[in-house]
Amino acid sequence: MEHALLRHQTLDDFRRGRLTKKDICDASSELLRVASALGDPLDQNCPICTDHPLVVVSFAFGKGLPKGGRGISSPQELARLKDSTMEMDLYLVEVCTECSWNHLIRKLIY
Ligand SMILES: [Zn+2]
Repeated sequence: MEHALLRHQTLDDFRRGRLTKKDICDASSELLRVASALGDPLDQNCPICTDHPLVVVSFAFGKGLPKGGRGISSPQELARLKDSTMEMDLYLVEVCTECSWNHLIRKLIY
């Protein structure tokens, strides 16, 4: 809910001109790479460029994982990570590979 509210606020600020496209469409090249390779299509178009479908990617952060997070490619991989003893946070991020819009949808803690 908190994240949905933040998304709404961000988009509202953008429409009112308080934020520019550059401020909010700032996905890193790694995020875009993972989004193109592993992203799951969302049944929703990008709120910024409006005609490009969004994808959702999962990134795991935690001890023993890359500092910038690790893109999760499959449910099997996620299950394997969960089974290992390390603590991790999982970030679900919606990404538009067209304009680099990205937004955290949910953070899960394992
Ligand atoms: Zn877009």
